[in-house]
Amino acid sequence: MKDTFKHRGLRQKLVEVVKAKGITDDNVLKTIGNIPRHLFMDSSFLDHAYQDKAFPIAADQTISQPYTVAFQSELLQITPGDKILEIGTGSGYQTAVLCELGAKVYSIERQHELFKKTSKFLPKLGYRPKKLIFGDGYIGLKEEAPFKGIIVTAGAPFVPKALLAQLEIGGRLVIPVGENVQTMTLFIRKGPKDFEKHEFGEFRFVPLLEDKN
Ligand code: SAH
Repeated sequence: MKDTFKHRGLRQKLVEVVKAKGITDDNVLKTIGNIPRHLFMDSSFLDHAYQDKAFPIAADQTISQPYTVAFQSELLQITPGDKILEIGTGSGYQTAVLCELGAKVYSIERQHELFKKTSKFLPKLGYRPKKLIFGDGYIGLKEEAPFKGIIVTAGAPFVPKALLAQLEIGGRLVIPVGENVQTMTLFIRKGPKDFEKHEFGEFRFVPLLEDKN
């Protein structure tokens, strides 16, 4: 597992690209500059690791585009110590970003292969999420709720009620909603039954799946 001068140079260029697309949060930009994304990808894609693109990982899934990761992370407005739930661990890249931002991260993945691979991999890079869970993100993680933030990294055909219910007051849910194309959506919990909704641009994610097939 090597991180070279060349990789670091490519990462700085990627930071500039993501910045040019509108990301302004310096802490978020710093994570993109720090995290060796090439190590989260299969070796055949190494040359592409620092392009602002999504790429295939195991189990027919993808590592999200860096701009998308930065966009969602910025919307969460994390301060160190925040308890954050991620749905869709995948390669663990977004998980690593959340860890670097100082969050206490809980992350759920429904593909066992990815869950196993990423559980082993993240500690090797020094990332220690609070808990990685093999399970169904639609139901969230009731036993650890409430969360300051919840981030869904797969396209949700609808907003799962359980996730809204597991936000603390003032908490933020960042979720791409839609079937083929998703609208990035932010819910802020204002009160027990009061949610503020904000919609952003369109993104494309692999689907948030409801069953084990
Ligand atoms: N954050 C990841 C993105 C991976 S793609 C990364 O940066 O690499 C989305 C992930 O969501 C996939 O790994 C997929 O298996 C997972 N997923 C899909 N439906 C899910 C569900 N119901 N519960 C938990 N994870 C799910």
